Amino acid sequence: MASYPNVQLHIDGKWRDATGGRSIPVINPATEEVIGTVAHASQSDLDEALEAAERGFKIWKKVSAYERSKVMRKAAGLLRERADAIAPLMTQEQGKPLPEAKMEVMAAADTIEWFAEEGRRAYGRVVPARAEGIYQLVIREPVGPVAAFTPWNFPINQVVRKLSAALCTGCSIIVKAPEETPASPAELIRCFLDAGVPAGVIALVYGVPAEISSYLIPHPTIKKVTFTGSTPVGKHLAEMAGKYMKRATMELGGHSPVIVFDDADVEFASKTIAASKFRNAGQVCVSPTRFLVQEKVFDQFVETFTTYAKSVKVGNGLEQGTQMGPLANDRRIPAMEALIADATQKGAELRTGGSRIGNKGYFFEPTVLTGVTRDMRAMNEEPFGPMALMVPFKEFDEAVEEANRLPFGLASYAFTRSAKTANAVASQVESGMMTINHLGLALPEVPFGGIKDSGYGSEGGSEAIEAYLNTKFVTQAGL
Ligand code: NAD
Repeated sequence: MASYPNVQLHIDGKWRDATGGRSIPVINPATEEVIGTVAHASQSDLDEALEAAERGFKIWKKVSAYERSKVMRKAAGLLRERADAIAPLMTQEQGKPLPEAKMEVMAAADTIEWFAEEGRRAYGRVVPARAEGIYQLVIREPVGPVAAFTPWNFPINQVVRKLSAALCTGCSIIVKAPEETPASPAELIRCFLDAGVPAGVIALVYGVPAEISSYLIPHPTIKKVTFTGSTPVGKHLAEMAGKYMKRATMELGGHSPVIVFDDADVEFASKTIAASKFRNAGQVCVSPTRFLVQEKVFDQFVETFTTYAKSVKVGNGLEQGTQMGPLANDRRIPAMEALIADATQKGAELRTGGSRIGNKGYFFEPTVLTGVTRDMRAMNEEPFGPMALMVPFKEFDEAVEEANRLPFGLASYAFTRSAKTANAVASQVESGMMTINHLGLALPEVPFGGIKDSGYGSEGGSEAIEAYLNTKFVTQAGL
């Protein structure tokens, strides 16, 4: 059994327990055993973090983008060096297979490096003036201390995007990381501290999410809010941010459509997208969920997909060969069961899966449903689990209409050999991201974010740092 720590808070340059000593148990979803604890911040801890963030911001914004970049690149190097030690922590707290955890750690190092470079390109501009001797300057300044709230499905990835964007622009940040998966994000933050980020610039807290967000967001020190999680919570936090006039980025839920046209390479499409469906047991905001498949190739697609689903090796993520770990927490089991029961009662057919595996650990079968209709809950609510819903369609318009039916608009997928169809589907599907004939989402250098109820703002590409910068206009006449 690999070891797991009692995770502490990090406030004002020190790792420490919560004032008052409260802590929360951390459970391994594969064994249901308590593997450690995480410190539970009190209000006075939050006050200290806020004061430190104020001080940290004053220091960090004066460090040049060049020097900030050097520190961040050093953090990326440390993260790579420590990846083999960090990945098992993530697998134990979150459930995902060890190779997936290691990949997440290594991808985080790439993300840090990309933002380290991009921060050096937070250019302003000079606007030609109407009169001689006038200089009109557009200057970009860091927005100020940031409050970041991140979920348990990608314990490091969800933090690193926010942390890197804040640091490269000169902001300080208080991260409220996930209580259920606290150790791996703490190790991420340790890399930044060991690389030389000054005290006060980064704080790490855990506790009751609603208590922390309702304290930090209205606080005058906080100038920007960033959240990844469910749409209902995101709407609540966006409302609070609006009330207190705070900048906000919201990366929320999805219900991604996959449109497979009958001219696609069906074998390739079904295998590629099935592997993506069961990654992280489907607990991915961009997870493909509604598979809209043109009639002529529907049976072939469903068969290949189902064969793949049946072959997925489910088990403890620490065991070699495991392809899918348990669901990350006990709430996901009844959530999946309720959606499946509702669908089958209304006439859906289970092609494979549908049940919990065993009674120890939150393991769930990869599940494929056909005969699904729009009145079923699963067709409307984000399953956030290993569930694929197969829907045949006849014509292009019918597929686009179904893709756009839901209020979500995060990611979408399409497979076709026709450039004309690819262009048409890319322009007509309402989503923040679309990937056609391959899986190409979530690299640091490209935009990542949704529209409609999936939120606003981007966590990738040059757009990602916009949200951490204020624009100041200075116009100056010669003396
Ligand atoms: P939840 O809606 O209670 O929580 C979702 C996330 O928001 C968690 O990380 C939680 O800590 C945080 N949160 C909840 N209330 C908060 C508040 N008032 N202030 C700040 N943070 C708050 O549900 P859950 O059971 O943890 O997850 C279930 C659903 O959340 C999933 O079905 C999925 O739709 C969504 N989710 C989305 C993502 C994503 O990547 N977009 C990640 C995790 C969960």
